[in-house]
Amino acid sequence: MRQKIVAGNWKMNKTLVEAQSLTSEIANMVEDEAPSDVKVVIAPPSPFIYAVENLVPEMGQIVLAGQNCHQEDSGAFTGEVSAPMLKSLGAQYVILGHSERRQHFSETDEELVKKTDNALKNDLKVIFCCGEPLEIREANTQNEYVTKQLTNSLFHLSAEQFKNIVIAYEPIWAIGTGKTASSQQAQDMHKTIREHIDSKFGQEVADETSILYGGSCKPDNAKELFSQPDVDGGLIGGASLKSRDFTDIIKSF
Ligand code: 13P
Repeated sequence: MRQKIVAGNWKMNKTLVEAQSLTSEIANMVEDEAPSDVKVVIAPPSPFIYAVENLVPEMGQIVLAGQNCHQEDSGAFTGEVSAPMLKSLGAQYVILGHSERRQHFSETDEELVKKTDNALKNDLKVIFCCGEPLEIREANTQNEYVTKQLTNSLFHLSAEQFKNIVIAYEPIWAIGTGKTASSQQAQDMHKTIREHIDSKFGQEVADETSILYGGSCKPDNAKELFSQPDVDGGLIGGASLKSRDFTDIIKSF
């Protein structure tokens, strides 16, 4: 059985006190209401990871993630955060290759090879983001675009390493726009991604890989999206900043 995952990407939002309150609220609601077979990943801004780590129940179903990491363990890289740092703060996952990082921080597929290698070396699981811009969707070449992103950044891994990868399909035109992909569009792409993983790593690995959908996923559309056979959860932006909405999305399985 594939792991169901709902991950909240807080992006650059919240102050320390707000981050602590939101974490406590989510922790309480998840404990009381969430199905126990859904893993909940919270990705706060990195300065807050340590401060919220003691607010999630130990050994519980909620784990923490970084939103990015550098490809080197340490060094003269002002302003950057490394995988060993995230690990030492209590993170178990790191999000890599988010379209906002590709767009605003010029992250390339080649850089993401190095970041992925470094994260895995430091025992972090990777939530690897892929997804096409609007013009690619309009030209109907999204399958080629997304599979190339995965080939370029992940296909150098061994099957054993790939077991620590979660894929997040986030069509750029759906992020923060209120315009979600239809459940059929999500399913079609997730199936394409799974077949692509199968072609390189084999069916067993492909069947076990969790593929999350991201892009204007909300309580009112999560059920429909999560009911698709190849959609194993969500990577949630805006709606993860409200404990009620985030918990309702987790309950949509
Ligand atoms: P929204 O849910 O705000 O569209 O953001 C999705 C996202 O980018 C999650 O990483």
